Amino acid sequence: MLRALGIRPEICHLNEGHAAFAVLERARSFMEDTGQPFEVALAATRAGNLFTTHTAVAAGFDKFSPGLMAQYLGTYASDKLGISLDRLMALGRKNAGDSSEDFNMAYLAIRGSGSVNGVSRLHGQVSRRLFQPLFTRWPEDEVPIAHVTNGVHMPTWDSALADDLWTASCGKERWLGTSDHLDADIRKVPDAALWQFRTVASQSLVEYARRRLALELAAAGAPHDEVETAKHLFDPNALTLGFARRFATYKRPNLLLHDPQRLLRLLDNSQRPVQLIIAGKAHPADDAGKALIREWVRFIRQAGARPHVIFLSDYDMLLTEQLVQGVDVWINTPRRPWEACGTSGMKVLVNGGINLSELDGWWAEAYTPEVGWALGDGREHSDGAASDAADADSLYGLLEREVIPEFYTRDEHGIPVAWVARMRESMARLTPQFSAERAVREYTEQHYLPGAAAYVARAADNGAIGKNIVDWQSALDRGWPAVSFGELKVATDEHRHLFEIQVNLNDLNPQAVRVELYVDGSGGDSAVRQEMECVRQPEGSAAVAPGYAYRASVPATRPASDYTPRVMPRYDGVAVPLEVDRILWQR
Ligand SMILES: *Cc1c(COP(=O)(O)O)cnc(C)c1O
Repeated sequence: MLRALGIRPEICHLNEGHAAFAVLERARSFMEDTGQPFEVALAATRAGNLFTTHTAVAAGFDKFSPGLMAQYLGTYASDKLGISLDRLMALGRKNAGDSSEDFNMAYLAIRGSGSVNGVSRLHGQVSRRLFQPLFTRWPEDEVPIAHVTNGVHMPTWDSALADDLWTASCGKERWLGTSDHLDADIRKVPDAALWQFRTVASQSLVEYARRRLALELAAAGAPHDEVETAKHLFDPNALTLGFARRFATYKRPNLLLHDPQRLLRLLDNSQRPVQLIIAGKAHPADDAGKALIREWVRFIRQAGARPHVIFLSDYDMLLTEQLVQGVDVWINTPRRPWEACGTSGMKVLVNGGINLSELDGWWAEAYTPEVGWALGDGREHSDGAASDAADADSLYGLLEREVIPEFYTRDEHGIPVAWVARMRESMARLTPQFSAERAVREYTEQHYLPGAAAYVARAADNGAIGKNIVDWQSALDRGWPAVSFGELKVATDEHRHLFEIQVNLNDLNPQAVRVELYVDGSGGDSAVRQEMECVRQPEGSAAVAPGYAYRASVPATRPASDYTPRVMPRYDGVAVPLEVDRILWQR
């Protein structure tokens, strides 16, 4: 469609594996323009493709059976791409030789992109683990997946009141350009003004919730008095908690229901009342998710719960907008590390809402005690039931001991000073950091600009560089199996280890490889990759000929036996191991 419109993008940003067939079509277009074969077209165009993975579990990747692929893409492969179906299938398989393996769209996206990222720092780590099977000989932290943490578009999610408040302190252009001074400017807003802003926001949300619930009940044919009761529900001055999201089991929307009596006691406190708004949908095919909604509905039907909890149906962005503008606390309870990023909690930041969340996704990098509350110990747990119980207990405990007392502890002007301080820090530190502006800037600087430059270079001259890369890869295919290490010599003086090793490169040019000393990052030290220098070609050494000697010296702070020489392909501008995953270790 882009071609039909005359648009020739330099960057194609693949949002999740669903979009990965764009890799093939982009290569096909390049073949049409230049007459190059598929492999050259892929090598040239992939530099301009960026793949963002959003999934935290392998089961989340789209996969298609070989039969389905043959049915829909068999002719396309042979007639349009000029490759066999096996070659096409290999792009989506872990093991190219396994004809029973399904075609994995995320694998195609990796094989067809010049860079790859996850959507939060933690998700970057998780993704390196998930995609390790494609880079089996590489340490997990060298699996070539970086991260750009998501951000939300603040002008979409701020209320009119929040817009006024931010405009008054930070100006109308505050979300444009860099945001260095935003935190300092918003910190200057006095307690009374911040609290007044929150009070009005809570009142608006309570009014909205009353209207909406009354409409929902009337539409469902509820008795007149029930509809009337809904119109006076809730207390505009009480603490309002919000929980709204897709009802998927990994998000544990029933964590608050772990001990229903404890939840009831917490809500039904005449001195310090708490009200809770729940919203969410389950996927139509997700019976477990639907059962979680029923659990809430049953809980709310009890007389004791009814005045304090409502479930609003038809969760969508308009409802989200109302909720994030008015809640005091946004609760999020995913099972770590399943929440790749999460964005709903970012939407409350600009409006002065505070997050109470599991240390998963974005919150694992956003949380500090000054800006909100955290659940969990920041680790993964294999025993689901036990960690659910522990997290539920800490959720109730935080609400009982910290959240509720802090909200209701007021000074002589009725202001909850500690609460306002936390809210101010959340607004000042987190709003700029988790905004779309920051995310788009990172994508631009780290991925779009370098990717576009690499694509333009590789595509120039009918893909001349793309062709060179394919030739280099063919030379590697021929020569690599015979590459081997010879003798390793280590000399240690007072301060340094001096390593020297023979490398038999077979027919490969020393320019086509890089030899390194590697030591992993265990024991608090970070991993070291020290390039070794090619010093001379040894003479008369039949065992390793034609061989080269490589030498490097490193500080003797760690034992020499920690270091392992390794050799990997090298080509200027080509991402290793993303584009070529070969590597040989000396041991
Ligand atoms: C923001 C938003 C989401 C994403 O919320 P998460 O908590 O990140 O899952 C989902 N649905 C709607 C309607 C939203 O507004």
